Amino acid sequence: MSLLTPQSGDIPLPVPGPISEPYWQGCREGVLRFQRCLDCGAPTHTPALLCAACASLSLEWVDSSGRGEIYSWTRVWRPVTPAFVTPYVPIIVTMEEGWNMLSNLVGCEDDAVAIGQSVEVVFHKSGGADNIVLPYFQRA
Ligand SMILES: [Zn+2]
Repeated sequence: MSLLTPQSGDIPLPVPGPISEPYWQGCREGVLRFQRCLDCGAPTHTPALLCAACASLSLEWVDSSGRGEIYSWTRVWRPVTPAFVTPYVPIIVTMEEGWNMLSNLVGCEDDAVAIGQSVEVVFHKSGGADNIVLPYFQRA
């Protein structure tokens, strides 16, 4: 068993662009954001120019509750780069607002994860860049 913690090494980091900057600014402010279509109401994530459901250009940014449940998970022992501390547990979370996101579980032992578990977002500054704060999830 290993306690899952945020990655603190020199891991690959996102590069915010014009479309994704509101998402990353939200993370810096401790708010998880997603986009909602003003035409059909569908949520869209990851940040995009078009609605994933109807291709409308009319998207608004919405603050998420930050709560959801684990849809799927895996445990990683062989990381993409040596900068990642293993094991870590990537999870797909179904958010309360009906959208899914990929993140990592932290704050519990690596064998304490289960599909359907309630989780909430927590934010941690990355080790490698001052302007990047990453959303992780912990058990609620
Ligand atoms: Zn739409």
